[in-house]
Amino acid sequence: MKNVFVIDTIEKVGQEVELYGWVDTIRDHKKIIFIDLRDRSGIVQVVGGPDFKRLSTEDVVAIKGLVKKRPEKLMNPRLQTGTIEIECRELKILTKAQPLPIPITGDGYEIDEDIRLRYRYLDLRRPRLTRNLILRSKATFFIRNFLTKRHFIEIETPVLTKTTPEGARDFLVPSRLQKGKFYALPQSPQQYKQLLMVAGIERYFQIARCFRDEDPRADRAYGEFTQLDLEMSFITQEDLLQLTEELFTALVKELFPEKHIAKTPWPRLAHAQAMQEYGTDKPDLRADKNDKDELAFAWTLDFPLFNKQTEADFFHGSGQAKFAPSHHMFTSPHPDDIPLLDTDPLKVRALQHDLILNGYEVGGGSIRIHDAKIQEKVFELIGFSAKQKSQFAHMLTAFTYGVPPHGGIAPGLDRFMMAILGEPSVREVVAFPATSGGKIAVMDAPSSPEETQLKELGIEVKK
Ligand code: ASP
Repeated sequence: MKNVFVIDTIEKVGQEVELYGWVDTIRDHKKIIFIDLRDRSGIVQVVGGPDFKRLSTEDVVAIKGLVKKRPEKLMNPRLQTGTIEIECRELKILTKAQPLPIPITGDGYEIDEDIRLRYRYLDLRRPRLTRNLILRSKATFFIRNFLTKRHFIEIETPVLTKTTPEGARDFLVPSRLQKGKFYALPQSPQQYKQLLMVAGIERYFQIARCFRDEDPRADRAYGEFTQLDLEMSFITQEDLLQLTEELFTALVKELFPEKHIAKTPWPRLAHAQAMQEYGTDKPDLRADKNDKDELAFAWTLDFPLFNKQTEADFFHGSGQAKFAPSHHMFTSPHPDDIPLLDTDPLKVRALQHDLILNGYEVGGGSIRIHDAKIQEKVFELIGFSAKQKSQFAHMLTAFTYGVPPHGGIAPGLDRFMMAILGEPSVREVVAFPATSGGKIAVMDAPSSPEETQLKELGIEVKK
C-alpha cells in the first residue's frame, strides 16, 4: 500500500521514499529532466535522467528516490514542497496516458461545463476540485463528530418512499411488485424525522440525500442535493438557533480559520423587516462584498405561515383554497397567532427559521405542529381534499400516541460549501453533478430501459 503522499516528503530529507502518482508537468533540459509528480496531496519535483524521456503528462508512475534539500536559490516558495526535490533512483511507468481532452492545470472555469462534466473524472484531478472534495469530507466529519458529542443519533431513512410535501415535483420510481404503483424519492426526510421524534429518538440527524425535480440554477443542482437534516424534541426555537449557530461557528473556526464571521451573535431579521429594508428575505449582509473571507450569517424569522395560493402552487386542493404553506405544512403557527387561523390566516406568523449566508438561503426549518387539531386545520386551509388528507393519515395517527413537541432544521451542504468556498455554482462542490439538461454526463444517464424491464413493470412508453 502507498504510505507516503508527496506532501509528506517535506519531512523526509535524506531518506529514500517510494512515491506513486501522475506526471503533472515535464521540463526537459536534455541531460536532466524534471517532472512534477502529482498526487491527491499536491506536487513535488522529481529529477531524472534520459529514461524520463519515455514519460508523457498524466502517465501513472512509481518512483523510488532520495529526498534532497534544494539549494537556497533554487527553492520555490510558491510550492508547498518547494524546499526539497526527489532524486530519482528507479522509475516505473504503471500506465500510459493519452493526451487529455481538457486541460486540468488551471481553475477550469473557462472550459465549457458540459465538457468538464463529461470528463468529470479528469476535471476532478484539478487541485481546486480535489480541495473542494477534501474540505467537504472534513466538514461532514466535523458535523458528525459535533452532533454525536451532543447526543444526536445518526439514522438513515428510506429513499424509496412516498411523496414528501416540500413543494417541488417528485421523482417517481415504478414498483414491480405492485404494478401501477410508484415510489417517490424523498424531497427531504421530513416526515420520517418527525416520526422518529414520536419514536422517542429525541435528537436525530442524517447527512441526507434529497430529490427534487426542479430546474437547476447556480445555487441549486438538478435532481438531487445533500442536506444536514436534524430534528430535536423538547426544545424551543431559540435552542435550535443556538445549536446551529454553535455548530457552524465551530466548523468555520476549525476548517476555515482564514475566514471571519461578520457578526456574532448572528443578526436576526423579521421577514417583514427584511422585505422592507432589503427587498429580499435572504439579504447579503457582508460589509464588503468583495471580501472573500467574510461570512455574513443571519437568521430570517417570523415568516408568514401561509402565502396566497396561486394556480401554479403544488398544493392545489379543492381548487378553492386561498393558502399555500410558506415553508411546509408541518410548520407550527406562532402560539400568539392561533386565533388568527380562523379570522385572518395570512396574518399568522410561523415558527420558521431560515439560515442565510452571504445572500444565500443555506437552510430552513421550523418548530412543528404537534397538535393533531391544528394540523387538521392547516390541511383544511391549504385546501386538502379527503384523499389528500388520507395520504398523511400516518402522521395524524402517530400523533395520537404521545408526540413530543419538536422542531428541526436542514442546512444544505452543497449550498453551504459553495458559499463558504466562494464558488460560483453548487456543481463545483459536488463530485458528479447533473448538467443543466439533467444528464449525469459521465454515465450518460438517464438512459432507455430494456423492453423486458418495462414489461416487468407493466409500463408502456408513448412515442
Ligand atoms: N424538510 C425541510 C426542508 O428540506 C427542512 C426542515 O423543515 O427541517 O427544507
